[in-house]
Amino acid sequence: MESQPATDLAMMRLALDAAAEAAGRGEVPVGAVVACGEEVVSVAANEREATKDPTAHAELLAIRRASESLGGWRLSGCTLYATLEPCPMCAGAAHAARIARIVYAAPDPKAGYAGTLHNTPQDTRLNHVIPVRSGLLAEEAATLLKSFFRSRRRKTL
Ligand SMILES: [Zn+2]
Repeated sequence: MESQPATDLAMMRLALDAAAEAAGRGEVPVGAVVACGEEVVSVAANEREATKDPTAHAELLAIRRASESLGGWRLSGCTLYATLEPCPMCAGAAHAARIARIVYAAPDPKAGYAGTLHNTPQDTRLNHVIPVRSGLLAEEAATLLKSFFRSRRRKTL
């Protein structure tokens, strides 16, 4: 699938806004968007603390909500945008949903499964390979995470 620079940027901004909002609620600031072309299908942020659900990652919630909204589990026309590189679970969910493309901002050296520790989207042994674009607005996404953890450390001291 062709990459669409202007759309990618707009969608990632939306995901970053969701991440920033999550930080305000005490959630680790990660945001995600599922879009079909120019159309936003779902926006989500990390809700682990609010829901006490270890699987309530932004990407997984965005995928679930997109499927609900589109009325089917196949998101084969959609791009998943995430402010942080998807973890094993979320990269797996993108595969299960037949996501057409993944765009993420910051790499995750501790859990990244879309190129850093492993590359699930591009694992050709799987029945569905997903093109990945990384590094879009990575600095903003990383700064958001860094300042969140810095302020949290300050509170616990
Ligand atoms: Zn995840």
